[in-house]
Amino acid sequence: LVVMEDVQKHYGDFHALKDIDLTVHRGEVVVVIGPSGSGKSTLCRTINRLETITSGSIRIDGAELPKEGKALADLRAEVGMVFQSFNLFAHLTILENVTLGPIKVRGLKKADAEKEARALLERVGVGHQAEKLPAQLSGGQQQRVAIARALAMRPKVMLFDEPTSALDPEMINEVLDVMISLAKDGMTMIVVTHEMGFARKAANRVVFMSDGQIVEEAPPEQFFTNPRSERAKDFLSKLI
Ligand code: ATP
Ligand code: MG
Repeated sequence: LVVMEDVQKHYGDFHALKDIDLTVHRGEVVVVIGPSGSGKSTLCRTINRLETITSGSIRIDGAELPKEGKALADLRAEVGMVFQSFNLFAHLTILENVTLGPIKVRGLKKADAEKEARALLERVGVGHQAEKLPAQLSGGQQQRVAIARALAMRPKVMLFDEPTSALDPEMINEVLDVMISLAKDGMTMIVVTHEMGFARKAANRVVFMSDGQIVEEAPPEQFFTNPRSERAKDFLSKLI
């Protein structure tokens, strides 16, 4: 579903992504881990074209990423993204946050968008909060709304960039549980996280990045028990 081939990304002189080859199949959950500054966020951001790449190719469902205009807006709808900070619109209610994209981009009627949004809010466990403003919700609830908002666009793939790292510990699991249920339902997901429990439970594959490169890719059991590269061994030893 997502195919990256020989992707290079430079920020000026700095080579942030080096020779990235990554294929994510439909229904697959890929967890990306690696030290700070290794390029994990940059990798995610190139996939929905928040960042342009210097060279190489990124295809989603066989189509090269569009550069601008309506095609780019459609791409952003196909690729849902959830960030560390929830980025909800502060002046809109929870329901309005979730219906905005479907009305504007998918062209749904308000009533239809609201019906879908309420079902999604129910699914992520905040159905009874629909009329509130984001500031009236806990961090964990806001992040679940952010997930519902991305899902409302009917994405083909969901990108998560450290979705739980800004949350208090007691709220982390409620967000991870929603993500695990999405994974079980067959959503294609690319997840940058330090939550190794999630990686073990939900990932089909772990991708380990260091210095802008993919150093190692393996199923979680294999990666955590028997990492091949020194860099991965070193990284894992510091986690415990
Ligand atoms: P973290 O775990 O801290 O979130 P990361 O793996 O997500 O790190 P990136 O944010 O992808 O790392 O950054 C990779 C490298 O690219 C870093 O060295 C960073 O300083 C650099 N970088 C990121 N964005 C920019 C930018 N807009 N301009 C210049 N350099 C950048
Ligand atoms: Mg990052």
